[in-house]
Amino acid sequence: MLISNIKGGKKNIKEELGDNKRMKKKICRKWRLLMNWTDKDVHELDRVFNELITIQSDTGTELERNISKYIFSELKSWKYFKKHTDYVGVHKLKNDPYGRSVIWALLKQGSETVVLMNHHDAVDIEEYSDLKPYALQPKELKRKLMMKQLPEAVTKDFHDAEWIFGRGTADMKSGIALQMMMLKKFSDHMDQVEENEESQKGRSLLFLSVCDEENLSAGMREAVNLMKNLEEKHDLKYVTAINSEPYMKDNESQPIFYEGSVGKTMAVILARGKKSTCWQCL
Ligand SMILES: [Zn+2]
Repeated sequence: MLISNIKGGKKNIKEELGDNKRMKKKICRKWRLLMNWTDKDVHELDRVFNELITIQSDTGTELERNISKYIFSELKSWKYFKKHTDYVGVHKLKNDPYGRSVIWALLKQGSETVVLMNHHDAVDIEEYSDLKPYALQPKELKRKLMMKQLPEAVTKDFHDAEWIFGRGTADMKSGIALQMMMLKKFSDHMDQVEENEESQKGRSLLFLSVCDEENLSAGMREAVNLMKNLEEKHDLKYVTAINSEPYMKDNESQPIFYEGSVGKTMAVILARGKKSTCWQCL
């Protein structure tokens, strides 16, 4: 969830801030100091997060186009990208029946580049059944869920304002919002230091938002070509990649991160049958 991603530990924040539930006080103080988060930034993070949730982006459908449009228009509206229009773009997938894209944005300094990656598709909302109309409306969904008979492990979270319900809240619109706002903070900073020679020694940041992650990873596979093009065009050297997927943790007070990655091979087996009967095979 957004809040646990940002604050990195429920216990820590409660110890620091007591039971105050106001949004602006939900961000971990350490994070705020590190990133210089102001109340305005937190409000902006909240806005982007909520807008991302309301845009349905079922994986493997044309709906993925809507959310990529939103992300691109947000990025384009920033001062840095108004000035550097060739550092932000829409990379369309080749021969894609749904017309989907990878959205990218580059904060250019030195050659060494850190990649911030996320995916903008989400699992469809079929499982919500009669609550489908509310699957993308966290507040209404919570109210409707409260009327249902559910296990205590779920119901106790209804009374905890730190929990946000809805399709894609954790996986991974919170991750997109967080990366976008971090990028925004850095871009604001770069507006000030850009002409300074020292800044050319700093690391560049490449933001990548891919489609189809919940399905066949067509977005990431195409993003490899995009990354190769950008690498050559802008003299980049990729040094690390940070994926802001949600994660599970056993200890509430102990945030964790995974180092490395798990590869996967997706085998497709196509079986074709021929009409027959059990006593006369054709
Ligand atoms: Zn995910």
